[in-house]
Amino acid sequence: MKLYNTLTGQEDEFVPTDGKTVKMYVCGVTPYSSTHVGHALSYVIFDMLRRYLEHIGYQVKHVQNFTDVDDKIILRAGTEGISEDTLVQRYIDDFFSTMDALNIKRADSYPRATQEIPGIIETIKGLVDKGYAYPAGGGVYFRVNKSEEYGKLSHRTLEGMIAGARIQIDEDKEHPMDFTLWKGAKPGEPSWESPWGPGRPGWHIECTSMSLDQLGDPLDIHGGGQDLVFPHHENEIAQSEAFTGRAPFARYWVHNGLLNLGEDKMSKSLGNLVSAEEALARFTPDTLRLYFLSSHYRSPLNYSDEGAAASEHGMERFYHSLRPSDNTGEALDASAYDARFHTAMDNDLNTPQAIAALFDLAREINRSQEAGRNVNAAQDTLRSLGGVLGLTFQERNINGQNMLLAQPFIQLLLDTRAELRQAKQFELADKIRDGLVDQGIILEDTPQGTEWQHQPRP
Ligand code: ZN
Repeated sequence: MKLYNTLTGQEDEFVPTDGKTVKMYVCGVTPYSSTHVGHALSYVIFDMLRRYLEHIGYQVKHVQNFTDVDDKIILRAGTEGISEDTLVQRYIDDFFSTMDALNIKRADSYPRATQEIPGIIETIKGLVDKGYAYPAGGGVYFRVNKSEEYGKLSHRTLEGMIAGARIQIDEDKEHPMDFTLWKGAKPGEPSWESPWGPGRPGWHIECTSMSLDQLGDPLDIHGGGQDLVFPHHENEIAQSEAFTGRAPFARYWVHNGLLNLGEDKMSKSLGNLVSAEEALARFTPDTLRLYFLSSHYRSPLNYSDEGAAASEHGMERFYHSLRPSDNTGEALDASAYDARFHTAMDNDLNTPQAIAALFDLAREINRSQEAGRNVNAAQDTLRSLGGVLGLTFQERNINGQNMLLAQPFIQLLLDTRAELRQAKQFELADKIRDGLVDQGIILEDTPQGTEWQHQPRP
């Protein structure tokens, strides 16, 4: 399997260190506001990667953190007049309910910065002892000049970084690109005792300390959005490799493209957020996953309701091809589609091509179904490969009913309606049609009979 590695700037053959267990660390959220569609996209992508690795026989040990102490958390808790803990717990709950709704497998562990302070302090101490960090003004800073390979992930030089950065004058720092490992406490902020006085950890050191502690180096995969490459992941590498004295800290750096709303990058500062809850109220989890994975994971995705609605129609095509069948003719062999799916996924997780193979399989199933062939095994293949992408094939609930379960009853109503029309009992026939329309079932009378489809309701 080939996987694009930001560190090497190319697609590398993926082989975990011990040949069977994949140690995967994915940067988590700062829980200070509702989970948005950008988070949903990113974690669906890493869930797809995990499911595929498991599908091809690896065991995945997946760790994802919560940055649960941060300026934004402190600010928001203050605005709302609640404790940081209350705020954080609210949005961690919101995060898990969104992840569960999207059928994203839970990580093996979710370390929280505030619960790992002693380990983080130990890591900072180690860096100070080795001369990679220095205390100043109540805080501790990382000394970028001592890190010879600083910039190797983002492929930038220190000079280039300075030119591109908004440098804040900070008299405590030796070099403008030095970054904070420990922040001295301000009055009223949550803080912990440390050898450098009361304070709290910086963001980057949390991930270094928790990933080394929970997984050990080298990590096989370190993941996150492309917006984390610099400075967050660059700094993680510098800290981790300085601390352990070993490289690489992580072997494959996997970054997903970001979600755009219209022309603008989706970010909280722009205020153009669509909450994941909002998206899930409009579309099924399967529809959203199919939509997200219809683009390659490294490309940006321009999120729109129209795009998601197109994927909803795509899901209808899958449901249609999975309808129960008791044909006894020659069995349809799906192995060619199975092979196409794997070839696509092995090629840096090319989900658009993998999904195209599944649509072609669905079409073949429909054709074979009409020809009286046995499609049961082919349907199982479609279900299982869809499952690798995290699709459940659970249709949208109509008033609590599952669409797949509803299909025979819809057909019964259509047959009854046809008989009523033949008997010229049009009033009763129309009542059935109107009742179905109310449930989102649109009928179309054709010379071959009545066709129906489930109309996505925005
Ligand atoms: Zn991180």
